[in-house]
Amino acid sequence: MKISIEQLNKIYTNGNWALKDINLEIPNGMFGLLGPNGAGKSSLMRILVTLMKPTNGKVTVNDQYDLMKNRREIRAMLGYLPQDFRFFAKLKTWEFLDYTARLAGMKNRARREEAVDRMLEEVGLFEARDRNANRLSGGMKRRLGIAQALINDPKIIIVDEPTTGLDPEERIRFRNLLSNISTRDVIIILSTHIVGDISSTCENVALLNKGKLAFTGSPSDLVREAEGKVWQIQATEKEYLEINDKFPVITTIPSDYGWEMQVVADEINGYYGKPIEPNLEHAYVYFMEKKLNQWTSA
Ligand code: ADP
Repeated sequence: MKISIEQLNKIYTNGNWALKDINLEIPNGMFGLLGPNGAGKSSLMRILVTLMKPTNGKVTVNDQYDLMKNRREIRAMLGYLPQDFRFFAKLKTWEFLDYTARLAGMKNRARREEAVDRMLEEVGLFEARDRNANRLSGGMKRRLGIAQALINDPKIIIVDEPTTGLDPEERIRFRNLLSNISTRDVIIILSTHIVGDISSTCENVALLNKGKLAFTGSPSDLVREAEGKVWQIQATEKEYLEINDKFPVITTIPSDYGWEMQVVADEINGYYGKPIEPNLEHAYVYFMEKKLNQWTSA
């Protein structure tokens, strides 16, 4: 599977320019779309799931289907879990999934029942199959959301801000679930503003900022960009405030001499500290705070 995006732009009728000249190749596996609120992630997702048309540009799937011309074929390949996934109050968990399977065109009842059971098993909801869907916990609702997106065996799975409101355990469980699915011949696009959602699971990431594609590559490529740019500083009380003003601060821990602070910076002239190995979160902060601010002010 492959999605190719060329010179994609979205300008809303009120003049908001949500996507600017996006060029991007999305290969098989899990793809993380990362960026702060307002970066353009949802706009890109809505275009990819054919809910909205771009202002201009081109999207093709497998060099074969054009998003503007073959909308029906592309829809048949899609599974979508929107950010504000909701369902009807009065359905049991299995009934809801059965309903979505019918909507997806699965007419044969026996085959549908089998698919529903298999899916409930896969997302860990089989025990809860007779429970009212609206009585499920937050994490279980999200898993039901992914189940409805997967019921028709889609080749392109799009998940918008999947872990919002989930506790850490559910977050990990949800991530592992997507990770398992991504080993098939599918593309999973995961949009998030939480770095932790993508670090361990995505082979590739794209960073969006103010509608522009700021970076695309593997998470380790992104981390490499921040090498030598993350520092651990031992700061006194007085320095603490100065440092907060001067640099993007990642963590602050009280220590014997005042504070131990992790910051991103090209140089920390005048302070006592050493560079440390960056992780993905460091790299993300470095990219957003340093590079992009420089670019946008240039
Ligand atoms: P994200 O999902 O990364 O938070 P969005 O795609 O929702 O970003 O938003 C990108 C930009 O487009 C923002 O400036 C937002 O205000 C604007 N925007 C989003 N939806 C609309 C809309 N329906 N009409 C006008 N502007 C919009």
